[in-house]
Amino acid sequence: MSDLFHRAQAVIPGGVNSPVRAFGAVGGEPFFVARAAGSRLWDSEGREYVDYVQSWGASILGHAAPRVVEAVQRAAADGTSYGAPTEREVLLAEAIAERVPSVDKVRLVSSGTEAAMTAVRLARGATGRPKILKFAGCYHGHLDALLVAAGSGLATLGLPGSAGVTEGAVADTIVVPFNDEAGLDAAFAAYGPELAAVLVEPVAANMGLVLAAPGFLEGLRRRCDEHGALLVFDEVITGFRVGRAGAQGLFGISPDLSIFGKVIGGGLPLAAIGGRADVMDELAPLGPVYQAGTLSGNPLATAAGLAVLDELTDAAYDVLEALAERLARGLRAAAAEAGVPVQVPIARTLVGLFFRAAPVVDYDSARAADGVRYADLFGRLLAGGVYIAPSPFETVFVSLAHTDAEIDRTIELAAAAFTAIAAG
Ligand SMILES: *Cc1c(COP(=O)(O)O)cnc(C)c1O
Repeated sequence: MSDLFHRAQAVIPGGVNSPVRAFGAVGGEPFFVARAAGSRLWDSEGREYVDYVQSWGASILGHAAPRVVEAVQRAAADGTSYGAPTEREVLLAEAIAERVPSVDKVRLVSSGTEAAMTAVRLARGATGRPKILKFAGCYHGHLDALLVAAGSGLATLGLPGSAGVTEGAVADTIVVPFNDEAGLDAAFAAYGPELAAVLVEPVAANMGLVLAAPGFLEGLRRRCDEHGALLVFDEVITGFRVGRAGAQGLFGISPDLSIFGKVIGGGLPLAAIGGRADVMDELAPLGPVYQAGTLSGNPLATAAGLAVLDELTDAAYDVLEALAERLARGLRAAAAEAGVPVQVPIARTLVGLFFRAAPVVDYDSARAADGVRYADLFGRLLAGGVYIAPSPFETVFVSLAHTDAEIDRTIELAAAAFTAIAAG
């Protein structure tokens, strides 16, 4: 074991500050990052990796993008936090509302978890109803009410929920399989009048990458309207990633509330909840739903977020899509050549990888994919200097700093890995 990991484990539970980082799903031990630039990471022992994690998608321009670094440095020189309003908070809220038509007003927070927590409380406060519906395998951060059948780290660890979450905390949470229209009908029939909100990742990206079936999201919008529940899109991954207006822009669906994170903070702690003005105005100080944060709208984070959004032009999304498409096509061809059954779903700029012959449509089919083969691929790529997510329940993130040559080299390494995997 590395000395650093040894020391980390003595003073940090598991040696990490977020569980997936521990490499539990893929074996081996985590490397410690020393620095990063563009598509590359260097670990504390000087090894270099092409990074397809990119802070779980937060670094869409690539690491240490000069625009972002300059913006943060300039901002820091003016003070790192005031706990008072700033112009950049207004600019960022305007930039979000301008890009995402369903968003009239925005409240900035510091993490996706906080945004989801606010969405749940706001939906309950605005509707006066108690229940929340979520989908198995969708992850909305680590708030108690949504830690049931959550994906991401929980999927990795195979835990059904979490210790420390009381039955009361999840008593009003209803879980339905993703893409299950009949399950939705049953849930709405049973709980419709009590439902405050339906939360969904419009492209599920925390149980691997799972696309909504055609009509599924439209059906959600219709049912929410019929029953007076709010539709909340969790666009923490998809927002400003799959396109300028996120997944809702791709599918042409207007949720009542949306939450954003990752890309919007440009790699700094920032997230947001936004939506219809009448609902958002239920938040304090205008309304009765309390919500607050010492570091909310942090000046460094808003500087980074604004710099990132400014770089995300239509041409930038074209570049990201072309990189993702090149990678997906190459991985499919390499696996087919080796005779290894895989599913490589793609959602514009997001790529998934499951070792499974049948399509993956929900959490059960995602969990039925071969995790041992994923771990094998992960280890072989890492040894070749390519870092993909240390868990099969995540996605592949390209950035604007990745190159065709890096993608092709990744495919070559993957091809060799698939051949070795096929040979058993
Ligand atoms: C990462 C993520 C969250 C939680 O965001 P944090 O900033 O890690 O709290 C919520 N929802 C989705 C879809 C995510 O991917």
